[in-house]
Amino acid sequence: MPDRFFRASPPKGMTFEEQRAWMVRTQLERWAVRDSRVLQAMGAVPRERFVPASERSSAYYDGALPIGEEQTISQPYVVAHMTELLALQGDETVLEIGTGSGYQTAVLAMLASQVFTVERIASLSQRAATILAELKIDNVHFLVGDGSLGWPEHAPYDAILVTCAAPKMPAPLLKQLSDGGRMVTPIGPRGYQDLVRVVRKGDAFEEERLSPVAFVPLIGEHGW
Ligand code: SAM
Repeated sequence: MPDRFFRASPPKGMTFEEQRAWMVRTQLERWAVRDSRVLQAMGAVPRERFVPASERSSAYYDGALPIGEEQTISQPYVVAHMTELLALQGDETVLEIGTGSGYQTAVLAMLASQVFTVERIASLSQRAATILAELKIDNVHFLVGDGSLGWPEHAPYDAILVTCAAPKMPAPLLKQLSDGGRMVTPIGPRGYQDLVRVVRKGDAFEEERLSPVAFVPLIGEHGW
């Protein structure tokens, strides 16, 4: 069995398009990402556009990368896995907390009807909005603020994806989930957490603890 924790980079000499196809094959399909729409989106979004120029040659490396402001763009596998857990069909309204580079946002935008994304650091939000506009992705709405409060004006959401980690489930986000809606979020102490999926069934919230992950903290009223 190959070691999942051996972090490979693409073979030298590949174009970005070839690196993207290599990433889908060796980092996603190989590790059981199965949703064909997710694989297609990951094969289409140019990750190299979302990383700083100094990191561009590592854009398809099998890991997280720095994006400035002490934040990171998540590992491709983590982006694909979390997206797959939302089980998007194409007609959903999605809330994302932690826009970061905008890469995950772009993947969601390809798979859902509308994406509302909240980021606390204005410069990251603005940069992400510029890149998405350049890529002609026009179904994303940006907000700068404390995402631990959600974005109540546009609730309820069919799916909520949180890309930073809270010590416990942020109550406002649960409240903004539609009946039947799915939320995927890292929960746990600083440094290491569990990926948790919540499915709302009326007033009940079914919670499933999945794999261990390590995300930057959700800084806010219902976070750290
Ligand atoms: N999904 C992003 C991407 O593809 O680049 C990576 C996001 S990064 C791991 C987590 C982001 O959450 C950071 O940009 C951080 O500033 C943001 N964040 C932390 N606390 C937040 C909060 N309360 N509201 C909104 N964003 C927050």
